[in-house]
Amino acid sequence: MIKYDKIYLGSICNNKCSLCLSNKAIPFQSDLNTIFNFLEQKQSLENILLYGGEPTLRKDILQIIQKAVTLGAKRIKILTNGRILSDINTLYSLMDAGCFLFEIKLWGSNPVVHDKITRITGSFHETISSLNNLAPIQDKFVAVRIPICKDNYRDIQNIVILSINFGVNRIILSYNDPNLSLKDILPFVINSLNISIFNRTWILTEGFPFCVMKDLAKHMNEIYGDSIFSIGYNLTHHNKCSDCVFRTICPGIDSEYIKNNSIEFSPVLESKYLEDIRRLYES
Ligand code: SF4
Repeated sequence: MIKYDKIYLGSICNNKCSLCLSNKAIPFQSDLNTIFNFLEQKQSLENILLYGGEPTLRKDILQIIQKAVTLGAKRIKILTNGRILSDINTLYSLMDAGCFLFEIKLWGSNPVVHDKITRITGSFHETISSLNNLAPIQDKFVAVRIPICKDNYRDIQNIVILSINFGVNRIILSYNDPNLSLKDILPFVINSLNISIFNRTWILTEGFPFCVMKDLAKHMNEIYGDSIFSIGYNLTHHNKCSDCVFRTICPGIDSEYIKNNSIEFSPVLESKYLEDIRRLYES
């Protein structure tokens, strides 16, 4: 799996998602010189992920991409809500500058679910319009990130089907709400995995530990080292984890979640997949 250097661009966003992890109390934008210095100091610049707030709102986003390309970056990925990409000219400008990888957050399969979470009327239509713009373009990579929360977990199978219909390259189901029981949403996650596999679309999960995923652990993005789940969470391990065969490679669980749901955790005492998973994790 390709690993990315992650560059936080600030908290400013055109959505107001109810479970946003960016601190918007004080709108913040990372300083351009600081970003350039970071890029220049990297000994080998291969892959970078631009994230935080909404990167496409920055007036200097093309400069940042061009700078990274000039310094040798091979892959530049933007984590975005996709709304700005509904303007095809802006999308082409980003691609002309050197960005061909887009990871688009989609909260719902319809405006009722999506716009309720983003708290912006019309945001669903703009995000869908960006997927529509990207669909026919060659030489791009589109991932849809589905952050799962209490307001959309019953809809995730529909979001997966919608994403497949746009021909996306990858789908990520990301656990996003520490107040939501992992066990309660697992059936919806398993159905979504099966739908995606049946339709030959690559699907991964984030934030679901080995003891929850069990035989589905090969779908955990954490194994491949490209997960962004840990950003914004205080991950820790439960005292029961000491007996788990995955203890050394499991990133853990949100500490608040463990406090409220410790009963859900039972360590994995043996796994026929342990060595395969360890090899993937270490590669
Ligand atoms: S280390 Fe803990 S949280 Fe991780 S899989 Fe094992 S029991 Fe679950």
